[in-house]
Amino acid sequence: NLAPLRRALLSVSDKTGLIELGKGLAAHGVELLSTGGSAKALRDAGLKVKDVSDVTGFPEMMDGRVKTLHPVVHGGILGRRDLETHVAAMDEHQIHPIDLVVVNLYPFEETVAKGADFETCIENIDIGGPAMIRSAAKNHAYVCVVTDVEDYDRVLNELDENDGQTTLALRQRLAQTAYARTAAYDTAVSTWMAAAIADETPRRRSFSGTFKQVMRYGENSHQSAAFYTDGTNRPGVATAVQHQGKDLSYNNINDTDAAFELVAEFDPADGPAVAIIKHANPCGVARGATLLETYQNAFDCDRTSAFGGIVAMNWPLDEETAKAIAEIFTEVVIAPGASDEAKAVFAAKKNLRLLTTEGLPDVKAPITTYRQVAGGMLVQDKDTGYVGMDDLRVVTKKSPTSAQMDDLLFAWKVAKHVKSNAIVYVKDKATVGVGAGQMSRLDSALIAARKAERMAEAMGLSEPLTKGSAVASDAFFPFADGLMEAAAAGATCVIQPGGSMRDEEVIAAADEAGIAMVFTGMRHFRH
Ligand code: 5GP
Repeated sequence: NLAPLRRALLSVSDKTGLIELGKGLAAHGVELLSTGGSAKALRDAGLKVKDVSDVTGFPEMMDGRVKTLHPVVHGGILGRRDLETHVAAMDEHQIHPIDLVVVNLYPFEETVAKGADFETCIENIDIGGPAMIRSAAKNHAYVCVVTDVEDYDRVLNELDENDGQTTLALRQRLAQTAYARTAAYDTAVSTWMAAAIADETPRRRSFSGTFKQVMRYGENSHQSAAFYTDGTNRPGVATAVQHQGKDLSYNNINDTDAAFELVAEFDPADGPAVAIIKHANPCGVARGATLLETYQNAFDCDRTSAFGGIVAMNWPLDEETAKAIAEIFTEVVIAPGASDEAKAVFAAKKNLRLLTTEGLPDVKAPITTYRQVAGGMLVQDKDTGYVGMDDLRVVTKKSPTSAQMDDLLFAWKVAKHVKSNAIVYVKDKATVGVGAGQMSRLDSALIAARKAERMAEAMGLSEPLTKGSAVASDAFFPFADGLMEAAAAGATCVIQPGGSMRDEEVIAAADEAGIAMVFTGMRHFRH
């Protein structure tokens, strides 16, 4: 199953590693064929190269739309070396076999990411490249196809080890990679096109990902798992740089994403925000003046749950905050940067993973989200819903004070990131009780208040911090009981979507308890 490598066709947009590859191939006596820009780069490095246009007898034309689309190229790639009829056809038409195809495509994904106009995106759809990749992958019994710069060395190593030949095992693996690449490429084109022509529910949709890392296991130790990127290069857990600590686990990645998306809701220009996450739900979120104080306020919401948590912030990590975080067991810290002093603090904590990013996720970016169900995929726009002061409607006799209003809006943003049913108590820009994921809103309210009581006991306070707090509910109160529970816990103002059949009852209960309540007109279910 070894196949000789006598001729190679190199046609790459990304010229990284091209010269080294060309030299390595030439050292094995491989004849090099290449297209315009790639040929020039190889020639400039002193390598002997044949132009594809000389082989086809046609110039590259139509702005490069037609370069390699020719029977001499595709016959050389696709012809079966073991079939007499194929060999005869090649002889008759002077088609020489091509044993290696190295192609990376026009940078379509990057062009879209840069926000290029329609015409430019169209011009960046590679045609000849995918055609060669697919031809070579189909004929992998004889032909080797390389679509990733990272695979150049694997091919050269095989040539060294096998006297200028490649193994079937490598060719098969590279063929599989090749089809994933062309599929991902067409997925990018099709996804872009659906958006460009404003087709929100295209009849056909494809999904793709690029391997990033394999995890030891998935959500549980008997599940295998891996992490794939979507090619968008957005700031976030997929593009973060890990400075230290063990590899991220499946749950780490999921929780880190939840944490970072939450703090990204808060504009760093308004001061730091910190979120501590456990099982994808926040157990403490705060805003403040300094990062240290903000972390401590977030931590004080639920010190018990914060153990083994994930900490995210919207400011670069500083030394003092790093010291405070290092005091308890923390799994992951993610921040848009970290000072050298902060990194030095963590260096002693071998198990703590520190991730830094270039900036924060854009919470307003229109992103499509996917969830698998048996036999299908649920596709929706990401929840980028935003509620500002002007969107609120005061429905009670009492209006919130401006300080209460700040806490209400803060609680609302946090509630958006808490699994439903979500009840979030906030006091002075810090959560003081979070009730998440209960099947009844009343239970979420009770659990959040109970947590606050426990924290008050632990901290030696005379009363729970829910006294005088603002409370957010991610969806309307279907009955007055949930609201009355919040009032019993000491909440003095409420933010909720409104829209229940019993709104009148709920408003009356609020008035009776002397509570100020605002309706957002928007809900934030999260499951
Ligand atoms: P070069 O820089 O060598 O001039 O061009 C390399 C790029 O051209 C590669 O990305 C390759 O996929 C692409 N390419 C090769 N042949 C064709 C073709 O016939 N049509 C188009 N549209 N692109 C091609």
